[in-house]
Amino acid sequence: MTTGFWWDERCFWHTGGNYTFLLPVGGLVQPLASGGLPESPETKRRLKNLLEATGLIGELAVSSAPPASDDDLLRVHPADYLERFREMSAAGGGELGERTPFGPGGYDIAALSAGLAKEAVLAVLDGRQTNAYALSRPPGHHCTRDTPMGFCLLANIAIAVEAALGAGKAKRVAVVDWDVHHGNGTEAIFYDRPDVLTISLHQDRNYPLNSGGADDRGEGGGEGFNVNVPLAPGAGHEAYLHAMERIVLPALDAYRPDIVIVACGYDASGVDPLSRMLASSKTFARMAQMVKERAEALCGGRLVLVHEGGYSEAHVPFCGHAVLEVLSGSAIHAEDPLTRRLDGQQPSERLNAVYRGMIDEMAGAIDFRRFAADA
Ligand code: ZN
Repeated sequence: MTTGFWWDERCFWHTGGNYTFLLPVGGLVQPLASGGLPESPETKRRLKNLLEATGLIGELAVSSAPPASDDDLLRVHPADYLERFREMSAAGGGELGERTPFGPGGYDIAALSAGLAKEAVLAVLDGRQTNAYALSRPPGHHCTRDTPMGFCLLANIAIAVEAALGAGKAKRVAVVDWDVHHGNGTEAIFYDRPDVLTISLHQDRNYPLNSGGADDRGEGGGEGFNVNVPLAPGAGHEAYLHAMERIVLPALDAYRPDIVIVACGYDASGVDPLSRMLASSKTFARMAQMVKERAEALCGGRLVLVHEGGYSEAHVPFCGHAVLEVLSGSAIHAEDPLTRRLDGQQPSERLNAVYRGMIDEMAGAIDFRRFAADA
């Protein structure tokens, strides 16, 4: 059993510069000491460092990858968008969309980030690796075909999916997005297609605004093949697992994908600055275990996790380590110092019953047989 770990130091060199994220500085808003941008390389670098410190990295097949090629990118993004991005990157960086600042060479780093996701997917589909983790940065799940958003400049997972479909290595792909924000980019790109099932678990009405409603189910040939599970703010470990059991796993069982790809953000963590949820590293590990078991039952274990958000420097490394323990089946464990705190902050049973009821209601509105109909 081989678990791939795809990363590249240069992905940590992507920079958003001094960009004010939430508060426009001026008037009564003093400039922030941090510069104000929560998306920093430290969360990802510290995950890689923790894997080194515990030795778990020694049990993974560690590799970089070539950047996604022009052909790869053009399967998803229009030429004029890529051209604008390339020119601005060569001119020192700037801002192409909404909350997507980048510095000099940002285009090449984004293409490399997408390349890590693509090669991870191809390595698993080719049987060179059992499953894989791509430590992509910048992330990708908010980026639509022509509009970069929310730190995402290229649609990493969509690029990897199209490369796999284009090469005839897969016919049906399921994308499970447990980043705390709605996976609007992946949703939009595959909204009218049944060959890619997109499922997003996210905090209700977080980011993007007015996005990710449970009634948005796809259109045309893709009608029914988009599943949104907006979770109430404050939901924690039990609600996430309930949503997996009642919605995600039955959807995968019915759809029978050739590969499962996870948009793996850790920003549902109870200490993340960009969400109001209460997941812990145990939550991420358990969700990883669930998708791993379903992938083993349905598609030879073919499973790729692509790193998305997660903004707690303290917690992301432990969440990521816990997930990689599961993927690799390693006995090397990193004790998460935040577990006790987050266990103690979980919602009461009364609140969990409310959350379960909301999830059951959403599950009841989904026609799971629809997924099998096109198989
Ligand atoms: Zn996110």
